[in-house]
Amino acid sequence: MENYLDPKLRDALKVVRSRLPLSNECLACYVFRMLEHGCDGLKWSLTYRDMRAPRATALERKFPLLGGYCDCEVIANVFHPNEPMWKLGESGGIDENNPPVCMTVRRGTIQPCGLWLMRSGIQWGGGVYKNRKAS
Ligand SMILES: [Zn+2]
Ligand SMILES: [Zn+2]
Repeated sequence: MENYLDPKLRDALKVVRSRLPLSNECLACYVFRMLEHGCDGLKWSLTYRDMRAPRATALERKFPLLGGYCDCEVIANVFHPNEPMWKLGESGGIDENNPPVCMTVRRGTIQPCGLWLMRSGIQWGGGVYKNRKAS
């Protein structure tokens, strides 16, 4: 019940909520959604981390290693759309203007939902970044 709130406060809250991760929304979907508000370093990735996965402290270090120095590069380099899950645009490629709804993840992880693939060759286990050893 928010009817008693000052309308200005109510509008401000609406803006704030629209910029926060939805419940169980994954990092990739959230950052992808927020990029329409601009890219400014790892702002959106870090917002997600702080709100949803505060223990993922290596994020600032890992994402640049994967080519994600800012949020748009995270979407370009760290995560790839899992194409069969996306609608196709007129060009035949995936329709980035019309992303599917996040398939959701558990809280506390920065792993993407099934709409995205992590860049291959990277191990995320144990909170420690390691180059995959040739076996
Ligand atoms: Zn950027
Ligand atoms: Zn998602």
